[in-house]
Amino acid sequence: MDIELIYKNAGAYLDGHFLLSSGNHSRYYLQSAKVLENPRMAGELAAELARQIRYSGIKADCVCAPALGGILAGYELARALNIRSIFTERADGKMTLRRGFEVKKGEKFIICEDIITTGGSALESAKIISEMGGQIVAFAALANRGFCARVGSANTPKPTCKLPNDVPFFALADFDFEIFSPDECPMCKMGSVAVKPGSRNS
Ligand code: ZN
Repeated sequence: MDIELIYKNAGAYLDGHFLLSSGNHSRYYLQSAKVLENPRMAGELAAELARQIRYSGIKADCVCAPALGGILAGYELARALNIRSIFTERADGKMTLRRGFEVKKGEKFIICEDIITTGGSALESAKIISEMGGQIVAFAALANRGFCARVGSANTPKPTCKLPNDVPFFALADFDFEIFSPDECPMCKMGSVAVKPGSRNS
């Protein structure tokens, strides 16, 4: 599957000047919501991710996704693997498991995101599941922003990757966009102002 083309065709491969949650700036941004608004495409992407996970021999009982971004990808991955799907969410800034979702001792979990950047939210979800007795057997995402190393890619993890290196990470593609600190951003130097993706129409 040509993930870059799928994102471009869906208008999800944004070219502009973006303020990332890390505070850094980027010319490009992947807006997965625009891909996942097509349920059939969401299902096809998740089926390919599930195929790679199955091929590795990893078996899981449940997918857990950090809300909001991970929910659709996680749900479709769970459907493709025919297992349960739950999600964690932030309450007052702290990641929590609510809504009566349960974790049984020894249950095997895949933590799924739409995009893994440094993996911070995925790791927060993983910690909650682990504390409740679950076992994290894999991380998964539709796309890898290039900070972490996914299975089957020559990418090496950058120091900012937060995912543990003893748990495999599956993703369908690498998008190694350059990021800039605000004081070194060439777009800022040209007088443009970075916008937060997800606001207004991005
Ligand atoms: Zn900038």
